[in-house]
Amino acid sequence: MAKITIDEVTKRFGESDESIVAVDDVSLDINDGEFVVFVGPSGSGKSTLMRIVAGLETQSEGDIHIGEAVVNQLGPRARDIAMVFQNYALYPNMTVEENMSFGLKMSTDMSAAEIEETVTSTAEMMDIGNLLDNKPGELSGGQQQRVALGRAIVRDPNVFLMDEPLSNLDAKLRAEMRTEINRLQNDLDVTTLYVTHDQTEAMTMGDRLVILNYGELQQVGTPLECFYRPANQFVAGFLGSPS
Ligand code: ADP
Ligand code: MG
Repeated sequence: MAKITIDEVTKRFGESDESIVAVDDVSLDINDGEFVVFVGPSGSGKSTLMRIVAGLETQSEGDIHIGEAVVNQLGPRARDIAMVFQNYALYPNMTVEENMSFGLKMSTDMSAAEIEETVTSTAEMMDIGNLLDNKPGELSGGQQQRVALGRAIVRDPNVFLMDEPLSNLDAKLRAEMRTEINRLQNDLDVTTLYVTHDQTEAMTMGDRLVILNYGELQQVGTPLECFYRPANQFVAGFLGSPS
């Protein structure tokens, strides 16, 4: 668990006279154990902001704090953040068990027996305990997404970061996984940043909604606040608020 502070973060891509401002002076406090959902049109800077928090991209200006520490100089592993993306990128030649244990073998000094026990119990929690010896290619899309989630949480991270994790799944699986992710987040009490373009996910999954447009923060509030009391025309139009 960790509190996260995004402090006046700006990200520009390209040379100064024709640079793109992907993230424009964003400040945001995320509470310990909070589930925050990020929405906005394509190109509004959601992924760039996630990559900056994760340490995969360096901001042009501003600071990222995790807990009390400024983590600007730290790489992804040291930030103790687990990430799940839309194209979950499992290792195709490894079994589910190997996919899930890989990160633990690389980053902890757990014994082989401890790793096996942790992987097994996480797999059971994710309802994929019977698939540990299978390769990703033998699994359905939904099962693969469960493995990707299991692989992310098996390290018991401080922060869980998901960028459109369900957008490759069909509607029925998406609904099932929404519930699953909320249950996991509750059980693990892990601070979670979740990017989506799905209206249902935006309105139902998080404690707060963060709405971006052209890299600028438009509104931060509970989903109901944003929907019923939109801060501006953009938010009202984007969420389809009643007029
Ligand atoms: P979103 O995830 O909301 O769709 P992105 O964060 O991917 O938005 O992109 C925000 C803006 O930054 C877009 O204009 C995009 O083209 C630009 N951008 C993102 N990554 C790069 C990059 N590596 N190089 C140049 N421009 C980029
Ligand atoms: Mg994106």
